[in-house]
Amino acid sequence: MTRPALLSLDDALAQLLASVSPLGRTESISTFDADGRVLAEDVISELQVPAFDNSAMDGYAVRVSDLHSSNGLPVLPVSARVAAGQAPQALQAMSIARIFTGAPIPLGADAVVMQEDCTVVNECEGGVRIDVMPKIDQWIRRAGEDVQKGAVVLPRGTRLDPAALGLAASVGCANLQVVPRPRVALFSTGDELVMPGSVTPADMKVGSIYNSNRFFLRALLIRMGCEVTDFGIVPDNRAATLEALSSAASQHDLILTSGGVSVGEEDHIKPAVQQLGELNLWQIAMKPGKPFAFGKIKLGSDPHSFAHFVGLPGNPVSSFITFLLLVRPLLLQLQGTTSVALQPVLLRVDFDWPKADKRREFLRVRRNNDGGLDLFSNQSSGVLTSAVWGDGLVDNPAGQTIKRGDRVSYLSFAEFLK
Ligand code: AMP
Ligand code: MG
Repeated sequence: MTRPALLSLDDALAQLLASVSPLGRTESISTFDADGRVLAEDVISELQVPAFDNSAMDGYAVRVSDLHSSNGLPVLPVSARVAAGQAPQALQAMSIARIFTGAPIPLGADAVVMQEDCTVVNECEGGVRIDVMPKIDQWIRRAGEDVQKGAVVLPRGTRLDPAALGLAASVGCANLQVVPRPRVALFSTGDELVMPGSVTPADMKVGSIYNSNRFFLRALLIRMGCEVTDFGIVPDNRAATLEALSSAASQHDLILTSGGVSVGEEDHIKPAVQQLGELNLWQIAMKPGKPFAFGKIKLGSDPHSFAHFVGLPGNPVSSFITFLLLVRPLLLQLQGTTSVALQPVLLRVDFDWPKADKRREFLRVRRNNDGGLDLFSNQSSGVLTSAVWGDGLVDNPAGQTIKRGDRVSYLSFAEFLK
């Protein structure tokens, strides 16, 4: 019997994204709380920023032509003082105005001379010598040079970061219309799993392991802006699996499980999903991460009523990597994010990888001080230390060996987790 070829990662991702539409709902939240959220509407500026011409320096606002009327360095009286927040009068002819950073430029002034380029020569009468002649526009921040009135400063689909919150606030937005958090039900499967805290390491039974996936998956989901319902550990039997999946489906946009998606008799996820909905893809030609399932759990007979389902591998590193490469884009797409692809960078490897694999590999590596990449010594899919030691992945195509000095595609964990 010949086994069918495994689906490529690119095809799997394309298929997965094609079947996920952005959540239709939107909500208004305070701009203060919007870090990491996705805009459901364009942010359009109702004003220009800066709203008025203002000084970029502490110094003196001048009319450049007035400075050219004297022989030698000009000395002019100071006729006004403008601090930030004040509205100035027009500049008197043949005078200059003391001005501070952010203060509006008086009408008639066309340059600012920074105070370091001036000398106060006549304290009593307020005379100031201009030591370095300015050009027109010098140290003036012109109205609208940052944002034009009517401009889309942040398009819908933008995942907000701290700088974007500042920009939204700079155009006056106290609240933002965002996509609600995806509601995700998280399950761990496996009769071997025990929770840290429930049994001490000394009392662990042979065969038991601590549930580590639950911790990083929950944290990853929260970083991705999700509202997580953690359903804990589901035992390895069909009835419990069916019960868990069907009870979570109605209140959640996505059901995420780990473990139980391989081909063993103790792997109940696949048949349970097929019974409750449909399994659209299963097993991907990648290493680690081959056992991966995607489908839906239906709610009654309405074809539009369902929760997405993703079954991640049980091995911790496989689970971590398939989350980054497949679940992250799915969650971004659910939230209507416009760009879901991550740009790899080409970096030099400082190791050899002499054994090619049939599957596309994702190696745990770390950048070194020479700008190259070092390899973690144990690339087993169960060794979670590799994901902590490493700061990213080498994306190594199927059938490829790597020689020291080669340039390879590197994906940084920091980019994924941004
Ligand atoms: P499975 O996919 O269920 O066959 O599990 C594959 C491997 O991952 C087994 O060695 C499991 O013990 C391990 N594993 C499954 N779930 C977890 C979990 N939540 N935390 C840590 N290891 C797990
Ligand atoms: Mg299992």
